Amino acid sequence: MEKFAGIPVSPGIALGEALVLDRQGFRIPRRLVQQDAVEQELERLHGAIRAAQAQIARNRDTITQQLGPHYGAIFDAHLQMLQDRKLLEEVEQLVRRRHWSPEFAFSQVVRRYARAFEELPGPMRERASDLFDVERRVLRELLGRNREEIAHLTSPVLVLAHDLTPGEVVNFDPQLILGFATERGGPSSHTAIVAQGLEIPAVVGVGPFLSAVSGGQEVILDAEQGWVIVDPDDPTRAHYQQRLQRRRHYRQQLRQLEQQECHTADGQRIELMANIELPQEAQLCCQRGADGIGLYRTEFLYLQSPSLPTEEDHYRAYAQVVQAMQGRPVVIRTFDLGADKLRHMPQLEDQPNPFLGVRSIRLALRHTELFRVQLRAVLRAARLGPVRVMFPFVATLRELRQAKTLLADVWEDLREEGQGPEVLPPVGMMIEIPSAALLADLFAPEVDFLSLGTNDLTQYTLAADRSNREVSALYDPCDPAVVRLVHMAVQAAQAHHKPINVCGQVASIPECIILLLGLGLRRFSVAPGALGEVKRVCGRVRLRQCQQVAQRVLGMDDGRSIRLFLRQEYRRLVGASLD
Ligand code: PEP
Ligand code: MG
Repeated sequence: MEKFAGIPVSPGIALGEALVLDRQGFRIPRRLVQQDAVEQELERLHGAIRAAQAQIARNRDTITQQLGPHYGAIFDAHLQMLQDRKLLEEVEQLVRRRHWSPEFAFSQVVRRYARAFEELPGPMRERASDLFDVERRVLRELLGRNREEIAHLTSPVLVLAHDLTPGEVVNFDPQLILGFATERGGPSSHTAIVAQGLEIPAVVGVGPFLSAVSGGQEVILDAEQGWVIVDPDDPTRAHYQQRLQRRRHYRQQLRQLEQQECHTADGQRIELMANIELPQEAQLCCQRGADGIGLYRTEFLYLQSPSLPTEEDHYRAYAQVVQAMQGRPVVIRTFDLGADKLRHMPQLEDQPNPFLGVRSIRLALRHTELFRVQLRAVLRAARLGPVRVMFPFVATLRELRQAKTLLADVWEDLREEGQGPEVLPPVGMMIEIPSAALLADLFAPEVDFLSLGTNDLTQYTLAADRSNREVSALYDPCDPAVVRLVHMAVQAAQAHHKPINVCGQVASIPECIILLLGLGLRRFSVAPGALGEVKRVCGRVRLRQCQQVAQRVLGMDDGRSIRLFLRQEYRRLVGASLD
């Protein structure tokens, strides 16, 4: 049994068979080989090794010609590894005696050798990556498959990968992908957000661990505490099976809360909306008793297909959401493409620093032809129900005014064509850049509502990439700087009688909900899976208590002490949470 720690980003527990997607994205089957097929399978293995050797020899000759024999020697070392009698005998024994598939046996043996090299000091460690290279070559010959295979799964698996993009996860089928863990990634990355939307348990930022696991091995994913457990022993497996049962029971209890409105213990009505990435999620939000959609991340429409969505594609998606919500408000956020979501804009991919570059509203205002297509569809959908438009990533008043002017212009065009709504829908903006929080009193009079995007607000206030595990300790929505900015924005909104909500992840962290209520927030928008939990927390606390907590927090100077204090207050006011 081996245990690896990571950052839990989408809660849940999953037990199952590993599907390992390393950088090359191979899935290594553990299937057993029939007794009478052993010789045939060994022949397949030797054939793959011969093919890999031929390929390596060709590479060696080319490199030797181009760069000289010194470089060619690297490939000679690879060839020697593939000729190592001891290594090959071990693999053959595993196929003959244990009936493992050649892929699984080869991968297990090579990875064991690689781990031994990884532990050596000095340059010998480098040999590990040579071994991985050799492993990949042979597996490519044996399997000839890649990440595409994930679309054709027939049995449930736990995906273990170096990294996964939001676009990849959005295509995961939650019935077949029980959970995933990645070596890279940070707490509020979009990959994590999509996992929450799909309610797929996920742990990210585990660091290098793929060399210790092969496809088909049994794995436990503890996405409550952030553990990946490979080859669990019996007591561990039993412990997690029990926790899984308890969790199912707890979730059933939460389901019962879903149909009730959200109130605090002293009767303050809290508006609780849901965040979605895909139109299909809307129906579930409605079933779970959301007061509406508080954040529809429309950029996922662009990530799901290789070509740009047409006006009709946009319209169909928005109409589906508006109709599913049966008269409840739907906040459509215009596309927030950029940084980690740039696939459709290859010309932007080589920006030196995409998180600070042309993304989101900046991209929309530069490419108004793209923006108009989306705005037309949003306004057409507004004829079907209460749609609100929200602009993301606004840094300056000028940007907001430009976006509003464009919206009004598109609305006039549509009116002339007889396709626009009677009145312009309410317009709001996200406060997710520190400049917008600092100037919230200037922004508030110019919009109908404000929405605090604490995921980005935290990232930009602390200059800590939300998807980088190396700075995950710095990335803290409870940091006093972030708390102050949230407080400022709430006060500005209140002074101008404009509704303000929080749609960032912090609104679904139980202990943080108390703080947000205390700071004056009465509206939240969270992942559909978190609706029940937020109702439970709100229902147990009184506003007075929350205000006292917020007062204390506003006087504190460090994120970690704030988080500890909030956890302690949460236990006192709400009681222990699950686990
Ligand atoms: C945010 O930044 O808090 C937010 C809700 O938007 P996203 O997570 O899509 O960047
Ligand atoms: Mg954001």
